[in-house]
Amino acid sequence: MNTESRAEFEAFISLPPHEKEISRFPDDGSSELAGLYGPAACAGGDNEVGFVNQAAAIDPRAFHHSKIELDPTHELPFISRKALKRVKNPLPAPEHCRYCGPRWSAFIGHHEEVYNGRSYGDWPYVYLCENCGAYVGLHPFTDIPLGTMADEGLRRARKNNKQRFNLMMKASGMKRGEAYEWLAGAMGIPVVECHWAWFEIEQCEKAGKLCSERGK
Ligand SMILES: [Zn+2]
Repeated sequence: MNTESRAEFEAFISLPPHEKEISRFPDDGSSELAGLYGPAACAGGDNEVGFVNQAAAIDPRAFHHSKIELDPTHELPFISRKALKRVKNPLPAPEHCRYCGPRWSAFIGHHEEVYNGRSYGDWPYVYLCENCGAYVGLHPFTDIPLGTMADEGLRRARKNNKQRFNLMMKASGMKRGEAYEWLAGAMGIPVVECHWAWFEIEQCEKAGKLCSERGK
């Protein structure tokens, strides 16, 4: 990592969680950051529906005393312990494609492989199925997936319904964290589980409908 991207990384990591810039990431639900760095991450563990024991909800590697060494052939350049610590309630890395089954491993791929040769942000990686093309982005500077791998239909549902959420948020004047708290409540799920990249198609549609109704 060169000095410039290191500086950018430090700046990103030091931002208050709710201020992390999300516009630098492709808005297709594969890289949903807002929910994950939203109220659950900001609440410091005292949100009512979240984990009682926050430490249990953080990747234990965040507390390693030594650097996290990666295999030299690993696709990721490094993993930041500080960045791991930022991710509350991490999902495990996918081992195989949820659509194609255990015969098809989930590889770490580069954005260029899924975004027509383009790359976004400082952490341009995804978990990818080389058979069907399902993918999901990673939390910056970690190997933690932002959600579950999604095929084209699911990505479209996440993207379209998240747009309805953004419109509702704008119309209501709610801050992002407040909007996620509201949505979680309306859907009857814990706010720590309220992330577009975690939703299945039905949940996307339910969330989008709730947002549109509220926005009226
Ligand atoms: Zn697949």
